[in-house]
Amino acid sequence: MNPLTIDLLIDRRETPGASYAVVVDPGRTGDHVGVVAQASAEQVNQAVQAAHAAQPHWAATPASTRIDLLRAAAGILDAEAATVAELMALESGMLIATCNAEILSAAQIVRDNADLAMEFLKPREIAGADGWVSVEKRPYGVVAGIVSWNAPVILTMRKLAPALACGNTIVLKPAPTSAIGLSVLLAKIAALLPPGVINVVHGGAEVGTALTTHPLVRKVSFTGGGKVASSIMCNAAASMKDVQFELGGNDPAIVLDDADIDYAAIRIANGAFRRAGQFCFAVKRVYVPECIYDRFFDRLSAEVDKLRIGHPLDPRSTMGPMNNRAQWNFVKELVARARDQGADIVELGEFLDPEVAQEGYYLRPALVRRAQPLSEIVAVEQFGPVLPVVAYQDEAQAVRMANESELGLGSSIWSSSSARALAIARELEAGMTFINQTGASRLGQRHAPFGGVKQSGIGRESSDIGMAEYVEYHSIHCEGAPI
Ligand code: NAD
Repeated sequence: MNPLTIDLLIDRRETPGASYAVVVDPGRTGDHVGVVAQASAEQVNQAVQAAHAAQPHWAATPASTRIDLLRAAAGILDAEAATVAELMALESGMLIATCNAEILSAAQIVRDNADLAMEFLKPREIAGADGWVSVEKRPYGVVAGIVSWNAPVILTMRKLAPALACGNTIVLKPAPTSAIGLSVLLAKIAALLPPGVINVVHGGAEVGTALTTHPLVRKVSFTGGGKVASSIMCNAAASMKDVQFELGGNDPAIVLDDADIDYAAIRIANGAFRRAGQFCFAVKRVYVPECIYDRFFDRLSAEVDKLRIGHPLDPRSTMGPMNNRAQWNFVKELVARARDQGADIVELGEFLDPEVAQEGYYLRPALVRRAQPLSEIVAVEQFGPVLPVVAYQDEAQAVRMANESELGLGSSIWSSSSARALAIARELEAGMTFINQTGASRLGQRHAPFGGVKQSGIGRESSDIGMAEYVEYHSIHCEGAPI
């Protein structure tokens, strides 16, 4: 494949960058996937100015027209999924089937927002003996959307669709290691819309800082790590911007003594190791009662051992590489320190081709047998294919250990009794708890907010609660009868 050039997108014009960064294939690091324009601070300013100039007209466009355009955007995602999936797999290291499914799922996210918006945007009018009040929803103006690399299209559409539906314009900053496929999709979607409604700037921390300090940006919606979120919060403070954060998780799975061991092992293996463990609500630590620990661990090992590690375009691969060198080194060093401290690391799975294993950021999936509850590998978010399995004596202890974290994104309970699982779910400090599953069903994706408590985030995405992140309220009080 010829290397691609991705430019900035400012005011619907493809704009060359101040410089270009090479993107490598993490599955074969000698190969270049493309080059991506890096924005200067002045170009970030131009993108924000374009979004600012376009916003009043976009907000005045009837909501029904904005919603029709979002439906057309969803159609583009459907139509382009198969082609762009290959590019995304090459740059991100995620399996091609995963990338294809991600783009289709992002289309559904856009449609869900389109379905919600008309009803959501209606003003609430209250009339009484002493007059009436209309509570109206207004867009913020310019929103900045900054995302991480692990699910670029889903994460972006969760911001773009509700922001645009509510009449905001947006400046997006994709992650440097997954900007190419996403930008191809965004250029096609932006072409449907008036100039300036969607703008895309590329780069790292400097570009992110230029965006999050810009006085015309009224809201920052960010998906990524806690450290960067803290710096964004400081940057946003000077001009009093609102922020919404989707951050990391260290999601516990609590297996109860009445769980269906086969079912739980299969689901937990998938919930921990798909995307090679690189997703925010992956199962990141497992708590298993002593009475079934060995049986469960053996069954889970057998499941994880089925993983076949290979290049993301190889249809036989069931696990790809890490997305980037820094994350690869982080996970390798975490595992090495755990081993040095006496942890029992069980490496599983098989490389499809030993040569490919040497060419990219690959790791073998691993379990940590009888991990110590307070050890580093249990306490930190690994964001990679290694899963600690901790033994517990009673449920109260399991709940205490699960809550012993500054993170609180997702969690799961595994039991054949829904009532028992529900009672424990209600004790967990998390934004989401899944019972006998590791992610939301379609029903949940459509109707439930997504996000975390404690240091896992601020605010929520998805559903009407997520859409409310993109409006401010304007209360109009009037004397006399309703108009
Ligand atoms: P990261 O915080 O390093 O980067 C995220 C984005 O921020 C990238 O686009 C990056 O270029 C940009 N950035 C870097 N410095 C910046 C700065 N100073 N100002 C503004 N932007 C800046 O995170 P990552 O390594 O890309 O992602 C991994 C983390 O994201 C994990 O902790 C994961 O759990 C979390 N995550 C959370 C969710 C969720 O929905 N809760 C989803 C996906 C990933």
